[in-house]
Amino acid sequence: MKIEKPRGTRDFSMEEMSERDYVENTVAGVFKAYGYGKIKTPTFEHMDLFTMKSGDEISTHMYAFEDKKGRKMCLRPEETASVCRMFSETLRTLPKPLKLYYFDSMFRYEEPQKGRYREFWQLGLELIGPKGPESDAEVISVAYDSLKKLGCEFRLEIGHLGIVKGLLADKDIPEDLQRKSISCIDKNDAEGLRKITSEPLLFELIALKGGKEVIAKAEETLKDSKKAIAALIELKEILAYLDAVGVEYTLNLGVARGLEYYTGMVFEIRVPDLGAQSQICGGGRYDNLIELFSGLSVPAVGFAFGFDRVAEALEMQGVNKKERTKEIIVAPVSPDMKKEAMKIASDLRKTHSVEYDLMDRKLGKILEYAGEKGASHVVIVGRKDYSDGMVTVRDMTSGEQKTVKIKEIEEVLK
Ligand code: AMP
Repeated sequence: MKIEKPRGTRDFSMEEMSERDYVENTVAGVFKAYGYGKIKTPTFEHMDLFTMKSGDEISTHMYAFEDKKGRKMCLRPEETASVCRMFSETLRTLPKPLKLYYFDSMFRYEEPQKGRYREFWQLGLELIGPKGPESDAEVISVAYDSLKKLGCEFRLEIGHLGIVKGLLADKDIPEDLQRKSISCIDKNDAEGLRKITSEPLLFELIALKGGKEVIAKAEETLKDSKKAIAALIELKEILAYLDAVGVEYTLNLGVARGLEYYTGMVFEIRVPDLGAQSQICGGGRYDNLIELFSGLSVPAVGFAFGFDRVAEALEMQGVNKKERTKEIIVAPVSPDMKKEAMKIASDLRKTHSVEYDLMDRKLGKILEYAGEKGASHVVIVGRKDYSDGMVTVRDMTSGEQKTVKIKEIEEVLK
């Protein structure tokens, strides 16, 4: 019987995993440099966790099931809600700010296509506790620095849901219709939005996109809406911090985000060449979500990279994402040198990634294999050399060979 992998899932080869590890480690390195620590949450959760606030878009795409006791569970479709739950259960007494990051697979029952999978990975972070514009700016900077470090070309778009919500509130649009409006804006559904409100200022506002000039235009559009202006002032402060650290961005006041829990600044990062699934990162401020789970009013801001799309963007842009570790192969060239060669391999492994030839091959075949594997050096252990306390080290890039004292192999490998 032939069993294939489920639709929308993927297997990853060693080569692919080595590239993905490189991307993960590079980004995690930036997260850590900003003081974030890694956490893990369960792969499945109570379904209510996500139906409460993650929004219809996600709720309709969940991998939901009942367990043997009839409890409604689901595979996590995203992790921010899990992090808030974890915070309420176990992290609430820790000193603030709390800086957490995760790298996990998410599950959404969507129509698979390039860049959209049913199991996909998110590398995301949450900053819990601080409220000021500098925390929003810092979170955006982490995402920006991560992609710069990878050598990725991208476009960062920043908006603020408080502006849109403020305008709707000042026009007396009730909360539930505000939420529906934001969902329509997120989906680019102008028809749906018009059914809720035909407020011309709203349509004007969400079309505002570009550089700093957008702020002046928005000030003019929103001059009679107090709440919207207050949010716009906050956005200006965030931008001032981003300018101070040299982050380049585009303003887009039509950025709405599909997840329902965002309350303030929102941002998206796109790689336009990826086509339909060009959004590689999304995030924003969500000041009410933790309160929903814990009763404690704790502000928070965060984002998630769509990890698969980041990896695909780098592939497309020709960025080399190989883990640059030196691989060394130790080759015993006579049967009575196997144990000696194994000892040399074992010693070198303290500082290098070392493979001892287990296939009992002739030197020519081992060198061929080393070439295919991209090994940097082959350490050849022959009887005569060894009896003089020596081995031969072949540099696989230059083809040069040197016979050196066993104690001095390290010097040559440097
Ligand atoms: P979201 O949790 O919906 O805000 O998504 C955050 C990021 O995850 C998006 O910007 C995408 O890059 C990525 N993403 C969302 N859904 C999928 C999917 N089905 N397959 C691959 N990546 C996805």
